[in-house]
Amino acid sequence: MTEANTQPEVNIGLVGHVDHGKTTLVQALSGSWTDQHSEEMKRGISIRLGYADATFRRCPGVDEPECYTVDEECDDGSESEPIRTVSFVDAPGHETLMATMLSGASIMDGAVLVVSATEDVPQAQTEEHLMALDLIGIENIVIAQNKVDLVGRDRAVDNYEQIQEFVEGTVAEDAPIVPVSAQQEVNLDLLIDAIESEIPTPERDPGESARMYAARSFDINRPGASAEDLKGGVVGGSLVSGELSVGDGLEIRPGREVDEEGQTEWRPLETTVRSLQAGNRDVDTAHPGGLLGVGTGLDPSLTKGDALAGQVAGEPGTLPPTREEFEMTVDLLDRVVGKEDDESGESDIEEISTGEPLMLTVGTATTVGAVTSARDGECEVSLKRPVCAESGAQIAINRRVGARWRLIGVGTLA
Ligand code: GDP
Ligand code: MG
Repeated sequence: MTEANTQPEVNIGLVGHVDHGKTTLVQALSGSWTDQHSEEMKRGISIRLGYADATFRRCPGVDEPECYTVDEECDDGSESEPIRTVSFVDAPGHETLMATMLSGASIMDGAVLVVSATEDVPQAQTEEHLMALDLIGIENIVIAQNKVDLVGRDRAVDNYEQIQEFVEGTVAEDAPIVPVSAQQEVNLDLLIDAIESEIPTPERDPGESARMYAARSFDINRPGASAEDLKGGVVGGSLVSGELSVGDGLEIRPGREVDEEGQTEWRPLETTVRSLQAGNRDVDTAHPGGLLGVGTGLDPSLTKGDALAGQVAGEPGTLPPTREEFEMTVDLLDRVVGKEDDESGESDIEEISTGEPLMLTVGTATTVGAVTSARDGECEVSLKRPVCAESGAQIAINRRVGARWRLIGVGTLA
């Protein structure tokens, strides 16, 4: 592996019900703890969705799948060889809001669905997350049947069959189900083997223009830093196409809201790439995969406090338009998924109606829109905050049901 490809090359989402072991699994595979990301936090390049990079390795002379490991040393004392660095995207903590998961979905190339063997299948978010993968069209899926150390053989087999039955007819129908114990590090070789074959690195064209979804943005200066020490604003997110190099021009849309003589409008920002951080190192050129930190020449007050989260950055003149309103075709789910048994609210999903508020996730942007007109299978929305998105973009549509925003369907931008 050359130095360049120690940068992660593929993003893999960790999804599934709370406490089923997503974070523990990421930790077992990468040696870092996404719930804390203390190092990153200090540098200000952390993310709501935790990213953790893992290098999969192979022990020479050992058969598949036993050869797969994340350790540098093999059982026989020899040194393992790196095969591929992947970036895991883990929705941290007890985050149940689908928006977090869905903004991650726009940057995921595949997903590991973690299902605990200790509970009946499906639990609320197991169903909700699988439905979201289905809707957004993430097809490369591996299922980790976790915590098998806590159940006997019969329970494990029962649970395995429940999982098989649950995924029947869904996007995960053919996904391999790998029994593991994240905590005891059991069967990680089998899991890596499954990920290697089910979630390949997408073919990418480095000649395409650079496109990055911003998930965060920061002011990394200490309070009271002097003018000459002041560092430009930092944008964190994922590149989804092309390459980005230090010195490149960068346009960011929608940009910032400008107020002129009582008229407000959104103007794109233009700057240059001053530094790049990928796979936790400074690099000259970054490619898709993993979390990217882009140091820019922007006034840090523009990037402070995630001000640019949800925006799109890329080669100047190539970005899609900024939209304050748009029309979309709508596919509604049959019923609200992921409701806990004790939750109130309707389970049937009614048609979208004029005047109702919707929460829309477009790329990494989450915005509330009011429906200005609704017809069968189509609607128009007027947004509180504009988004940068191209025709054909997929939109996750959420409606307030009971106390929460619930995923009710998917839209396609007209
Ligand atoms: P998350 O909410 O899906 O990220 O779940 P966590 O990774 O935070 O795990 C929830 C709890 O389950 C923690 O106390 C873990 O130590 C425990 N846990 C996770 N994986 C396993 C496992 O394979 N076996 C056992 N016994 N406990 C586990
Ligand atoms: Mg977690």
